[in-house]
Amino acid sequence: MKFDIKEEDMIIKPYNTEGPIYIREQKGFFQRIRRNLGWLLMLTFIAIPWIQYNGQQAVLLDVATQTFTIFGLTLLPQDFMILALLFMVGAFALFFVTNWLGRVWCGYTCPQTIWMLMFSWVEQRIEGTRNQRIKLDKSQWTLSTWRKKITKHSAWIIISVLTATSFMAYFIPAKSLYMEMLTFEWSGITSFWVFLFAFCTYGNAGFLREKMCTIACPYSRFQAVMFDKDTLLVTYDSKRGESRGPRKRKADPKELNLGDCVDCNLCVEVCPAGIDIRNGLQYECINCGLCIDACDDTMEKFGYQKGLIKYASEKQMEGKKTNPFRLKLIGYGALTALLIIS
Ligand code: SF4
Ligand code: SF4
Repeated sequence: MKFDIKEEDMIIKPYNTEGPIYIREQKGFFQRIRRNLGWLLMLTFIAIPWIQYNGQQAVLLDVATQTFTIFGLTLLPQDFMILALLFMVGAFALFFVTNWLGRVWCGYTCPQTIWMLMFSWVEQRIEGTRNQRIKLDKSQWTLSTWRKKITKHSAWIIISVLTATSFMAYFIPAKSLYMEMLTFEWSGITSFWVFLFAFCTYGNAGFLREKMCTIACPYSRFQAVMFDKDTLLVTYDSKRGESRGPRKRKADPKELNLGDCVDCNLCVEVCPAGIDIRNGLQYECINCGLCIDACDDTMEKFGYQKGLIKYASEKQMEGKKTNPFRLKLIGYGALTALLIIS
């Protein structure tokens, strides 16, 4: 079969590092998983310092006394090996998941993603849809613009301060931390750390956003090493989609010599990384599945089969079967289990 791909579409465009990405809000199966998981993880992060065990804070990393308490177990600096072991368990578990499902850690559970999702949600509620936000940023500053911008940044700052305070509650007993906050009695050092973490949250989730993942995060650079031909990655089915092109809903694509991609551009507009998945696998892709939700909506509207963009392995796209029991995956799983048992 010969695909009619236009020359300009074959050029992989460099990642756009200029200006903000205006993400279109997308509903759908994968977005629902991201949202629900995001809520669960965020509430867990806030709740953990409030859990009591034997009359004490269950999880506390007391820097002043250099003791780490976790559900009655007290770790001292000389127990560093146990902490190192815990990190190794986390690392191998991450390798296992990455080999199996690609960058789902980045797309669904990374704090940067969750906070970005929250900040975007707030932004959309205050400044409106993607088109409204673009228009707002291009238009002249009016009273309404000032009102929207001040409201948005105030909401972001409140979230950032609460995030930083929740984080500090892992290092300072939560009850006294919040009591001192309410009575404005924070010491200089506590205020310094809270404001530093709040500033980082505000900057990362509000401004740097996907640039943190694509430019600053070292994990995004080397995780492709963990992929193999059986890894499930978000993939555009170019055999089915090309030649892409707009058409009327009831038009027969075969008569027009077109594939199933109607070139609506929605997969690009919803992408938090600002890429076009139709250009093939790109390291910026965080495997979040939002383009799948967007494309499935379009397919449904045109009466086509869903799954033009889907989670698929390279083998699957070549018409072969994905091997769930490959050596690399079993190796990472076995090492994780071994470290937990030891
Ligand atoms: S290309 Fe799709 S899966 Fe990858 S980051 Fe963009 S929206 Fe998410
Ligand atoms: S959402 Fe689907 S149909 Fe629309 S441009 Fe992307 S791949 Fe093509």
